[in-house]
Amino acid sequence: MEHCKRCGLPVSYQGIHLDEQGVCNFCAFFESHKEELSNQEQLESIFQREVEKAKEKAKENGAAYDCLVGLSGGKDSTYIIYQMKHRYGMRVLAFTLDNGFSTEYGRKNIENALDKLDVDHIRIAVKESELRSLYSKCVRLMHNFCSVCFHLMHYYSFLLAGQYKIPLIVNGRTKGQIYQSAADVRGIEPFELSGNLKEFEYQMFGRLIDKLEGNSCLDLLPQVEARALSYFAYHEISEEETMAFLERKIGWKRPEGKIKHGDCWAHAMAEKMSLEKHGYPVRTGEMAVMVRSGKMTLEEADKILEEDRQQFSQVDEELVQRFNDRIRMRK
Ligand SMILES: [Zn+2]
Repeated sequence: MEHCKRCGLPVSYQGIHLDEQGVCNFCAFFESHKEELSNQEQLESIFQREVEKAKEKAKENGAAYDCLVGLSGGKDSTYIIYQMKHRYGMRVLAFTLDNGFSTEYGRKNIENALDKLDVDHIRIAVKESELRSLYSKCVRLMHNFCSVCFHLMHYYSFLLAGQYKIPLIVNGRTKGQIYQSAADVRGIEPFELSGNLKEFEYQMFGRLIDKLEGNSCLDLLPQVEARALSYFAYHEISEEETMAFLERKIGWKRPEGKIKHGDCWAHAMAEKMSLEKHGYPVRTGEMAVMVRSGKMTLEEADKILEEDRQQFSQVDEELVQRFNDRIRMRK
Protein backbone atom coordinates (compact mmCIF):
# COMPACT_ATOMS: atom_id res chain seq x y z
CA MET A 1 0.00 0.00 0.00
CA GLU A 2 1.15 3.52 -0.75
CA HIS A 3 2.03 5.80 2.16
CA CYS A 4 2.96 9.44 2.76
CA LYS A 5 6.72 9.25 2.72
CA ARG A 6 7.07 11.75 5.55
CA CYS A 7 4.51 10.67 8.18
CA GLY A 8 3.62 7.16 6.97
CA LEU A 9 -0.15 7.65 6.63
CA PRO A 10 -1.68 5.18 4.19
CA VAL A 11 -3.41 6.55 1.06
CA SER A 12 -6.62 5.02 2.41
CA TYR A 13 -6.56 7.47 5.36
CA GLN A 14 -9.67 9.66 5.52
CA GLY A 15 -9.22 12.98 3.70
CA ILE A 16 -5.65 12.35 2.54
CA HIS A 17 -4.09 13.60 -0.70
CA LEU A 18 -0.47 13.06 -1.71
CA ASP A 19 1.44 15.64 -3.75
CA GLU A 20 3.90 14.77 -6.54
CA GLN A 21 6.67 14.28 -3.99
CA GLY A 22 4.54 11.73 -2.15
CA VAL A 23 3.90 14.03 0.84
CA CYS A 24 0.39 14.29 2.30
CA ASN A 25 -1.80 17.37 2.84
CA PHE A 26 -1.60 16.95 6.65
CA CYS A 27 2.22 17.12 6.50
CA ALA A 28 1.97 20.17 4.23
CA PHE A 29 -0.35 21.90 6.70
CA PHE A 30 1.95 21.10 9.61
CA GLU A 31 5.00 22.31 7.68
CA SER A 32 3.43 25.65 6.80
CA HIS A 33 2.33 26.31 10.42
CA LYS A 34 5.27 24.77 12.21
CA GLU A 35 6.32 28.00 13.86
CA GLU A 36 2.99 28.85 15.45
CA LEU A 37 2.47 25.25 16.52
CA SER A 38 5.84 24.96 18.25
CA ASN A 39 6.12 28.41 19.81
CA GLN A 40 5.43 27.24 23.34
CA GLU A 41 5.64 30.65 24.94
CA GLN A 42 3.10 32.10 22.55
CA LEU A 43 0.76 29.13 22.94
CA GLU A 44 0.79 29.34 26.71
CA SER A 45 0.13 33.06 26.59
CA ILE A 46 -2.94 32.47 24.39
CA PHE A 47 -4.20 30.01 26.99
CA GLN A 48 -3.43 32.37 29.86
CA ARG A 49 -5.31 35.17 28.12
CA GLU A 50 -8.38 32.95 27.73
CA VAL A 51 -8.18 31.99 31.39
CA GLU A 52 -8.18 35.65 32.47
CA LYS A 53 -11.09 36.42 30.15
CA ALA A 54 -13.06 33.49 31.56
CA LYS A 55 -12.46 34.55 35.16
CA GLU A 56 -13.79 37.99 34.39
CA LYS A 57 -16.76 36.63 32.50
CA ALA A 58 -17.62 34.23 35.33
CA LYS A 59 -17.60 37.15 37.74
CA GLU A 60 -19.89 39.15 35.43
CA ASN A 61 -22.21 36.15 35.13
CA GLY A 62 -22.29 35.65 38.88
CA ALA A 63 -21.17 32.06 38.21
CA ALA A 64 -20.01 29.75 40.97
CA TYR A 65 -17.33 28.25 38.69
CA ASP A 66 -14.79 29.61 36.21
CA CYS A 67 -14.32 26.46 34.17
CA LEU A 68 -15.75 23.03 33.51
CA VAL A 69 -13.67 19.89 32.97
CA GLY A 70 -14.88 16.40 32.07
CA LEU A 71 -13.34 13.71 34.29
CA SER A 72 -13.04 10.24 32.74
CA GLY A 73 -10.66 8.64 35.21
CA GLY A 74 -7.87 8.68 32.65
CA LYS A 75 -4.67 10.63 33.19
CA ASP A 76 -5.36 13.60 30.94
CA SER A 77 -8.61 14.81 32.45
CA THR A 78 -7.27 14.36 35.98
CA TYR A 79 -4.12 16.29 35.13
CA ILE A 80 -6.11 19.15 33.63
CA ILE A 81 -8.29 19.56 36.72
CA TYR A 82 -5.17 19.72 38.87
CA GLN A 83 -3.60 22.38 36.64
CA MET A 84 -6.74 24.49 36.24
CA LYS A 85 -7.17 24.57 39.97
CA HIS A 86 -3.60 24.94 41.20
CA ARG A 87 -1.67 26.55 38.37
CA TYR A 88 -4.41 28.76 36.93
CA GLY A 89 -6.30 29.40 40.17
CA MET A 90 -9.69 28.61 38.70
CA ARG A 91 -12.83 27.44 40.42
CA VAL A 92 -13.36 24.12 38.68
CA LEU A 93 -16.54 22.13 38.23
CA ALA A 94 -15.79 18.56 37.17
CA PHE A 95 -18.31 16.22 35.57
CA THR A 96 -18.35 12.58 34.57
CA LEU A 97 -20.53 11.08 31.90
CA ASP A 98 -21.67 7.57 32.62
CA ASN A 99 -21.56 6.05 29.14
CA GLY A 100 -22.00 2.43 30.12
CA PHE A 101 -18.40 1.50 29.28
CA SER A 102 -16.62 2.61 32.44
CA THR A 103 -14.20 0.23 34.15
CA GLU A 104 -13.43 -0.51 37.76
CA TYR A 105 -10.00 1.00 37.14
CA GLY A 106 -11.54 4.26 35.86
CA ARG A 107 -14.04 4.47 38.71
CA LYS A 108 -11.34 4.03 41.36
CA ASN A 109 -9.21 6.71 39.76
CA ILE A 110 -12.15 9.09 39.69
CA GLU A 111 -12.90 8.44 43.34
CA ASN A 112 -9.29 9.02 44.31
CA ALA A 113 -8.97 12.11 42.10
CA LEU A 114 -12.05 13.74 43.58
CA ASP A 115 -10.85 12.99 47.08
CA LYS A 116 -7.43 14.58 46.43
CA LEU A 117 -8.41 17.38 44.06
CA ASP A 118 -11.33 18.55 46.19
CA VAL A 119 -13.53 19.99 43.44
CA ASP A 120 -17.29 19.87 42.97
CA HIS A 121 -18.38 17.06 40.69
CA ILE A 122 -21.51 16.18 38.76
CA ARG A 123 -22.26 12.71 37.48
CA ILE A 124 -24.49 12.42 34.46
CA ALA A 125 -26.26 9.19 33.66
CA VAL A 126 -27.91 9.25 30.24
CA LYS A 127 -31.15 7.29 29.99
CA GLU A 128 -30.70 3.74 28.74
CA SER A 129 -32.99 3.97 25.72
CA GLU A 130 -31.11 7.03 24.45
CA LEU A 131 -27.69 5.44 24.96
CA ARG A 132 -28.67 2.20 23.24
CA SER A 133 -30.30 4.02 20.37
CA LEU A 134 -27.29 6.28 19.75
CA TYR A 135 -24.68 3.54 20.02
CA SER A 136 -26.51 1.03 17.87
CA LYS A 137 -27.29 3.64 15.19
CA CYS A 138 -23.71 4.82 15.10
CA VAL A 139 -22.35 1.27 14.79
CA ARG A 140 -24.82 0.50 12.03
CA LEU A 141 -24.23 3.68 10.03
CA MET A 142 -20.56 4.39 10.67
CA HIS A 143 -19.15 1.12 12.09
CA ASN A 144 -17.82 3.10 15.03
CA PHE A 145 -19.10 4.09 18.48
CA CYS A 146 -16.49 6.41 20.03
CA SER A 147 -18.14 9.32 18.20
CA VAL A 148 -21.19 8.87 20.43
CA CYS A 149 -19.12 9.26 23.62
CA PHE A 150 -17.37 12.30 22.16
CA HIS A 151 -20.63 13.90 21.16
CA LEU A 152 -22.31 13.17 24.50
CA MET A 153 -19.31 14.57 26.39
CA HIS A 154 -19.43 17.75 24.33
CA TYR A 155 -23.19 18.04 24.46
CA TYR A 156 -23.37 17.74 28.25
CA SER A 157 -20.39 20.02 28.79
CA PHE A 158 -22.13 22.79 26.86
CA LEU A 159 -25.45 22.02 28.55
CA LEU A 160 -23.83 22.34 31.99
CA ALA A 161 -21.87 25.42 30.95
CA GLY A 162 -25.15 27.04 29.93
CA GLN A 163 -26.96 26.07 33.11
CA TYR A 164 -24.18 27.16 35.46
CA LYS A 165 -23.14 30.18 33.32
CA ILE A 166 -19.60 28.79 33.08
CA PRO A 167 -17.65 30.63 30.36
CA LEU A 168 -14.87 28.09 29.75
CA ILE A 169 -14.75 24.34 29.06
CA VAL A 170 -11.32 22.72 29.07
CA ASN A 171 -10.96 19.34 27.34
CA GLY A 172 -8.25 16.71 27.34
CA ARG A 173 -7.76 15.97 23.65
CA THR A 174 -4.12 15.26 22.90
CA LYS A 175 -2.10 17.01 20.20
CA GLY A 176 -2.40 13.80 18.19
CA GLN A 177 -6.18 13.88 18.43
CA ILE A 178 -6.37 17.59 17.63
CA TYR A 179 -4.07 17.59 14.61
CA GLN A 180 -4.70 14.12 13.17
CA SER A 181 -7.04 15.50 10.53
CA ALA A 182 -5.86 19.11 10.37
CA ALA A 183 -5.36 20.20 6.78
CA ASP A 184 -6.83 23.67 7.15
CA VAL A 185 -7.02 26.29 9.92
CA ARG A 186 -10.82 26.07 10.12
CA GLY A 187 -11.78 24.80 13.55
CA ILE A 188 -8.17 24.12 14.50
CA GLU A 189 -6.70 25.55 17.70
CA PRO A 190 -4.90 27.89 18.21
CA PHE A 191 -5.87 29.37 14.82
CA GLU A 192 -9.58 29.28 15.52
CA LEU A 193 -11.17 28.97 18.94
CA SER A 194 -14.67 27.65 19.26
CA GLY A 195 -17.35 29.62 21.10
CA ASN A 196 -20.24 27.16 20.96
CA LEU A 197 -21.06 23.48 20.55
CA LYS A 198 -21.37 23.57 16.78
CA GLU A 199 -17.95 25.15 16.32
CA PHE A 200 -16.44 22.75 18.80
CA GLU A 201 -17.96 19.67 17.18
CA TYR A 202 -16.66 20.88 13.83
CA GLN A 203 -13.16 20.43 15.27
CA MET A 204 -13.87 16.75 15.66
CA PHE A 205 -16.40 15.76 13.06
CA GLY A 206 -15.63 18.27 10.32
CA ARG A 207 -18.18 18.80 7.61
CA LEU A 208 -20.43 16.07 8.99
CA ILE A 209 -21.63 18.68 11.49
CA ASP A 210 -22.61 21.09 8.72
CA LYS A 211 -24.66 18.31 7.19
CA LEU A 212 -26.31 17.29 10.46
CA GLU A 213 -27.21 20.81 11.61
CA GLY A 214 -30.96 21.23 11.75
CA ASN A 215 -31.47 17.46 11.87
CA SER A 216 -33.79 16.58 14.72
CA CYS A 217 -31.45 13.86 16.03
CA LEU A 218 -28.81 16.43 16.93
CA ASP A 219 -29.32 19.33 19.34
CA LEU A 220 -26.41 21.74 19.00
CA LEU A 221 -27.59 24.00 21.87
CA PRO A 222 -27.39 27.19 19.79
CA GLN A 223 -28.31 29.36 22.78
CA VAL A 224 -25.21 28.38 24.80
CA GLU A 225 -22.04 30.39 24.40
CA ALA A 226 -18.90 29.03 26.02
CA ARG A 227 -15.27 28.90 24.99
CA ALA A 228 -13.84 25.39 24.60
CA LEU A 229 -10.08 24.96 24.84
CA SER A 230 -7.99 21.83 24.38
CA TYR A 231 -5.45 22.05 27.20
CA PHE A 232 -2.75 20.07 25.39
CA ALA A 233 -2.84 22.30 22.32
CA TYR A 234 -1.18 24.95 24.50
CA HIS A 235 0.97 22.89 26.85
CA GLU A 236 3.79 20.53 26.02
CA ILE A 237 3.98 17.47 28.25
CA SER A 238 4.56 13.81 27.44
CA GLU A 239 2.31 10.95 28.53
CA GLU A 240 5.05 9.69 30.82
CA GLU A 241 5.48 13.10 32.47
CA THR A 242 1.72 13.40 33.00
CA MET A 243 1.54 10.01 34.70
CA ALA A 244 4.61 10.61 36.87
CA PHE A 245 3.21 13.99 37.95
CA LEU A 246 -0.13 12.50 38.99
CA GLU A 247 1.46 9.58 40.82
CA ARG A 248 3.53 12.02 42.81
CA LYS A 249 0.81 14.57 43.50
CA ILE A 250 -2.33 12.53 44.06
CA GLY A 251 -1.36 8.86 44.14
CA TRP A 252 -2.89 8.22 40.74
CA LYS A 253 -2.68 4.61 39.50
CA ARG A 254 -1.34 3.64 36.09
CA PRO A 255 -3.21 1.13 33.99
CA GLU A 256 -1.69 -2.33 34.31
CA GLY A 257 0.71 -3.52 31.62
CA LYS A 258 0.45 -1.75 28.29
CA ILE A 259 -3.30 -1.29 28.34
CA LYS A 260 -4.42 1.86 26.55
CA HIS A 261 -7.73 3.51 27.33
CA GLY A 262 -8.00 1.73 30.69
CA ASP A 263 -11.13 3.81 31.35
CA CYS A 264 -13.18 2.09 28.59
CA TRP A 265 -13.82 -1.67 28.61
CA ALA A 266 -14.86 -1.69 24.95
CA HIS A 267 -11.72 -0.14 23.50
CA ALA A 268 -10.71 -3.37 21.72
CA MET A 269 -14.05 -3.25 19.87
CA ALA A 270 -13.29 0.26 18.64
CA GLU A 271 -9.95 -1.00 17.32
CA LYS A 272 -11.55 -3.99 15.65
CA MET A 273 -14.12 -1.75 13.91
CA SER A 274 -11.43 0.64 12.74
CA LEU A 275 -9.44 -2.24 11.24
CA GLU A 276 -12.54 -3.61 9.54
CA LYS A 277 -13.72 -0.26 8.23
CA HIS A 278 -10.51 1.61 7.42
CA GLY A 279 -7.87 -1.11 7.48
CA TYR A 280 -5.78 0.74 10.07
CA PRO A 281 -5.72 1.03 13.91
CA VAL A 282 -7.42 3.87 15.83
CA ARG A 283 -4.23 5.76 16.61
CA THR A 284 -2.84 5.81 13.07
CA GLY A 285 -3.51 9.55 12.68
CA GLU A 286 -2.14 10.33 16.14
CA MET A 287 1.09 8.44 15.41
CA ALA A 288 1.52 10.41 12.19
CA VAL A 289 1.31 13.63 14.23
CA MET A 290 4.11 12.34 16.49
CA VAL A 291 6.25 11.54 13.44
CA ARG A 292 5.57 14.93 11.81
CA SER A 293 6.53 16.82 14.95
CA GLY A 294 9.71 14.77 15.37
CA LYS A 295 8.68 13.05 18.62
CA MET A 296 8.88 9.63 17.01
CA THR A 297 10.54 8.08 13.97
CA LEU A 298 8.56 6.52 11.18
CA GLU A 299 9.93 3.10 12.18
CA GLU A 300 8.86 3.50 15.82
CA ALA A 301 5.35 4.52 14.78
CA ASP A 302 5.12 1.59 12.35
CA LYS A 303 6.13 -0.82 15.06
CA ILE A 304 3.47 0.47 17.48
CA LEU A 305 0.75 0.35 14.83
CA GLU A 306 1.78 -3.15 13.79
CA GLU A 307 1.42 -4.27 17.41
CA ASP A 308 -2.07 -2.71 17.55
CA ARG A 309 -2.95 -4.51 14.35
CA GLN A 310 -1.77 -7.84 15.76
CA GLN A 311 -3.49 -7.32 19.08
CA PHE A 312 -6.87 -6.20 17.77
CA SER A 313 -7.45 -8.08 14.53
CA GLN A 314 -8.91 -10.88 16.62
CA VAL A 315 -11.13 -9.85 19.50
CA ASP A 316 -12.34 -12.15 22.24
CA GLU A 317 -15.80 -13.54 21.38
CA GLU A 318 -16.96 -12.84 24.93
CA LEU A 319 -16.15 -9.16 24.52
CA VAL A 320 -18.04 -8.99 21.23
CA GLN A 321 -21.05 -10.54 22.98
CA ARG A 322 -20.83 -8.18 25.94
CA PHE A 323 -20.58 -5.20 23.61
CA ASN A 324 -23.55 -6.24 21.49
CA ASP A 325 -25.63 -6.81 24.62
CA ARG A 326 -24.64 -3.39 25.90
CA ILE A 327 -25.80 -1.46 22.84
CA ARG A 328 -28.75 -3.58 21.70
CA MET A 329 -32.11 -1.81 21.65
CA ARG A 330 -34.53 -3.16 24.24
CA LYS A 331 -37.81 -4.45 22.95
ZN1 LIG B 1 2.17 12.93 5.70
